[in-house]
Amino acid sequence: MAHKFVDNYREKGARKKLVEKLKERGIQDERVLAAIGKVPRHYFFDETFWLQAYKDIAFPIGEGQTISQPYTVAYQTELLHIKPGDKVLEIGTGSGYQTCVLVELGAKVFTIERQEKLFERTKKVVPHMGYQAEFFCGDGSKGIPEYAPYAQIIVTAGAPFVPEILLKQLKIGGILVIPVGDEKSQKMVTVLRVNETEYERFELDTFRFVPLVGDQAW
Ligand code: SAM
Repeated sequence: MAHKFVDNYREKGARKKLVEKLKERGIQDERVLAAIGKVPRHYFFDETFWLQAYKDIAFPIGEGQTISQPYTVAYQTELLHIKPGDKVLEIGTGSGYQTCVLVELGAKVFTIERQEKLFERTKKVVPHMGYQAEFFCGDGSKGIPEYAPYAQIIVTAGAPFVPEILLKQLKIGGILVIPVGDEKSQKMVTVLRVNETEYERFELDTFRFVPLVGDQAW
């Protein structure tokens, strides 16, 4: 993982093709596509697997976890409607790739991972790549109330339900994006906080995530 960071024409070209593929699959937000086009996804892979980095696939990152498929990252990011300066909570840091995409969009990112080994690795690798975020280790299913409210909350693991405690950490007008379902498949759910007490919930496409494990989760 602590390999030399080299971003040559071969990787840049592969990344451009990936962006084209995401466009074909329906990602429309030009800012999200530009962010995917900038973040060197191969830095999250061992050098032997660099070419895998620009295929539209999830990939093992150790500890039984995965770096999400680029399409899934783009899909969730598009739903967040991030503006520069927005305070974003990411639950499930994993490799840190999604974190970098959020930072690239100008977000101030607070990210939490429950697996200590992944947390230790990611909090070193991501800043080393030039992306600054706040890293936390612990159960993100309860959010991080100390830094709330957030303009957006993104959950990158599959939850059995929408944790009420996360909704309370959204600012008015804020958006939560969370995959909800059983262990095999989840619907992407977005929840918009309309005012102090009202929320609007939408259910979108089906995905398959690793489980969100914790107090307000599996
Ligand atoms: N967004 C990540 C990326 O780009 O690499 C992919 C994350 S992976 C699909 C989901 C992550 O959520 C795993 O690293 C897993 O350990 C983590 N996770 C699961 N339950 C969690 C919880 N309650 N709090 C924080 N992290 C959790």
